[in-house]
Amino acid sequence: MSSRQVWKKCTFCNNGRRTCFNCGGSGKVSPGWQTCYDCKGFGTVMCAECGGNGGRRETIWSPE
Ligand SMILES: [Zn+2]
Ligand SMILES: [Zn+2]
Repeated sequence: MSSRQVWKKCTFCNNGRRTCFNCGGSGKVSPGWQTCYDCKGFGTVMCAECGGNGGRRETIWSPE
């Protein structure tokens, strides 16, 4: 058996950031279009699936 490490890109986000669900990516929420509390106006939040890394390392085992 031999193993190798591969980088698996997270399918839930783009480089560790994902569109804020609360404001839909606009950074503002109604009423009054205040700055979105969840993303602080950025429109994107850190991806919880990968912890903001954009992917994860995975070990692949293959028989020799
Ligand atoms: Zn937001
Ligand atoms: Zn992610």
